[in-house]
Amino acid sequence: MAEDKRAGPERVVIVGSGFAGFTCAKRLCKVLARTGREVEVLLVTPNDYMLYTPLLPDVAGGVIDPRFVAVSLADALPRVRLVIGKAEAVDLDNKTVRVSSEHQADRELSWDRLVLTPGSVTRLFDVPGVAEHAHGLKTVAEALYLREQLLRQLELADFEDDPEVRQARRTVVVVGASYAGTELIAQLRALADAYAARRGFDPAEVRFVLLDMAERVMPEVGDRLSDKVLNVLRERGIDIRLKTSLKELTERQAVLTDGTVVPTHTVAWVTGVTGAPMLESLGLPMERGRLVVDATLSVPGHPDVFAGGDAAAVPDLTKPGKITPPTAQHASRQGKALARNVAASLGIGGAAPYKHRDMGLVVDLGPHFAVANPLGVNLSGFPAKAVTRAYHTIAVPRPVNRWAITLGYLTNSVTPRPLSLLGLVSREEASFDSSEGIPARR
Ligand SMILES: Cc1cc2nc3c(=O)[nH]c(=O)nc-3n(C[C@H](O)[C@H](O)[C@H](O)COP(=O)(O)OP(=O)(O)OC[C@H]3O[C@@H](n4cnc5c(N)ncnc54)[C@H](O)[C@@H]3O)c2cc1C
Repeated sequence: MAEDKRAGPERVVIVGSGFAGFTCAKRLCKVLARTGREVEVLLVTPNDYMLYTPLLPDVAGGVIDPRFVAVSLADALPRVRLVIGKAEAVDLDNKTVRVSSEHQADRELSWDRLVLTPGSVTRLFDVPGVAEHAHGLKTVAEALYLREQLLRQLELADFEDDPEVRQARRTVVVVGASYAGTELIAQLRALADAYAARRGFDPAEVRFVLLDMAERVMPEVGDRLSDKVLNVLRERGIDIRLKTSLKELTERQAVLTDGTVVPTHTVAWVTGVTGAPMLESLGLPMERGRLVVDATLSVPGHPDVFAGGDAAAVPDLTKPGKITPPTAQHASRQGKALARNVAASLGIGGAAPYKHRDMGLVVDLGPHFAVANPLGVNLSGFPAKAVTRAYHTIAVPRPVNRWAITLGYLTNSVTPRPLSLLGLVSREEASFDSSEGIPARR
């Protein structure tokens, strides 16, 4: 294994280039540049981009090109040394992290400060068949696969003589009716509608089923907006089954917890997240699958180790006794707090606890509809659509991505969605195991 002996400046190693890790690296470099302090910042990441996950439903629906939601790290973080690979194991006593990569031998990196921001993976809940036959929506591969799987099944259905097989190919089940699953089903419905319009059949022939154990869709946005979403989705012909989930899944059918059997070839599993698998190897206290940290995002008993974002159970100082929810909004702001507190631990400035009030959610629900509650103000329809699209365009960290996303939105508002199948992602590449690194069930 390659080791990096060094006698140079202090080194901060950040694991994960999502909202928290990216923001932390960017902000830390800014602080270091301002103070003139020489500190090496390394970012360990399996991909050379930061993924803007809130627009993955638009990628699955064919509105946004996947490159538009991938922010180049080389462009955005020129002062950071990128280490392309996965952090596999951390030695807290010797202050090293082992990094594996498909393309070169494992490496051992030493650190003076370690920032753990590897995010989360889809929670599978051990439902039989889900790991093998369902697909998540956390990566570019998964989003592209869902789009292509739907289009492929629709094309196959067009030439299918057996009406039962044809209907199964024209059936999509999405499990999870929080914002990600609801946005996904709205986008896939719009894609199927575009396909039906172009092939000249009734869009109602494509069946969509949305399942959730909760009593409401998108409880995060409050009862009023949740009711509106329910009505709009039902008007679009989506069969919404609440207090219902999947009992078992095979390649050809979904068995629901109420005993209903739904023949289908396409199931998306978007039911919530748990901390990245590498966290388990640390042997540190966890809460609900996330690493325990204090309000300054430092790991108790390890003053040189910090964590934030979906990977960390960060105390919510605005709601005593609770932890902050796994959202991009919290992850980005925790990234800033991480930078500040890591810098403070190096003697630059002072540390501060993380405190952030929820600014509300924006949820894009396909053609002409969205809901949003910025600062607690409930919006739906066109005003929410404008706020939602403006928000995402501004929130993406690079001007070139903003530009491309704006063009994607404009194109979508004046032309039908593209229906071509590029076949870029195989079923295997989009599996939970390959795509998210969730070990397959034994
Ligand atoms: C479809 C979808 C829609 C969403 N919509 C919204 C929304 O509208 N608003 C909102 O606030 N939130 C939204 N979220 C939630 C939001 O995406 C997450 O809360 C946010 O990405 C968390 O940021 P993070 O930095 O903690 O983790 P991530 O953004 O997941 O980044 C973690 C990074 O770490 C990398 N990594 C993992 N393991 C390792 C390892 N061992 N070594 C090195 N790197 C590793 C991963 O590859 C990834 O790049 C959405 C999520 C999804 C999936």
